Amino acid sequence: MIQFHHVFMTYQNEYRALRDIELEVSRGEFVMVTGPSGAGKSTLVRLITREILATRGQVIVFDQNIAKLKPSQVPFFRRRLGVVFQDFRLLFDRTVAENVALTLHVMGCKGRTITREVAAALDKVGLAKKKNMKPWHLSGGEMQRVVLARAIVHDPPLILADEPTGNLDFATGWEVMQILKQVTETGTTVLCTTHNLNFIQRLKKRTLLLDKGLLLGERHKAHGL
Ligand code: ADP
Repeated sequence: MIQFHHVFMTYQNEYRALRDIELEVSRGEFVMVTGPSGAGKSTLVRLITREILATRGQVIVFDQNIAKLKPSQVPFFRRRLGVVFQDFRLLFDRTVAENVALTLHVMGCKGRTITREVAAALDKVGLAKKKNMKPWHLSGGEMQRVVLARAIVHDPPLILADEPTGNLDFATGWEVMQILKQVTETGTTVLCTTHNLNFIQRLKKRTLLLDKGLLLGERHKAHGL
């Protein structure tokens, strides 16, 4: 699903955010990425979404080297991703349902399909009753659940979550993690960054440890933490 071959990322200021990353994530895996602030976690996610291109090495997603995608192919590539950020990025003048529907509008879906899929996604995140509310009436945890619904509504094969619990307290963050975990149970691949070791310890999923741009190691479910 995702492969990194000797990937380096150096920003314009010559800061080497990632160095010689080798990585393979298989279909249906739930992979956590952790490490201190500045370790390169967001950079790793942004390379997979093709927001940025690696300075060296290859990033392969869905069996294609994404650096080689033509600009016209990039939107189609992104439609196969579900993306969750820490800062929500919701439209506050639209209802919960309209925010979730946006993903489907962009894909050209219409009418009843949108209504049905939005209802199903909101149901999965436990927000069916709040579909007509505007985001500012929601708690932080509920807002993040809207973002999750928006990320899963088109049933993408790959979900990328960059510090999705960063603005949430532990209990609310844990609920968000549980929803992400349920998503992998239906075969979706999830890669999720967090600096919160509590989540890592409780989830007991494969975990990549980054520090100063280096992949220091991995811990697998079987090893515990
Ligand atoms: P993390 O998500 O683990 O906190 P980041 O991937 O955001 O780490 O950042 C890794 C390093 O790259 C940091 O030192 C950061 O300052 C630097 N960096 C991130 N984004 C940029 C950018 N757009 N321009 C320059 N340096 C950046």
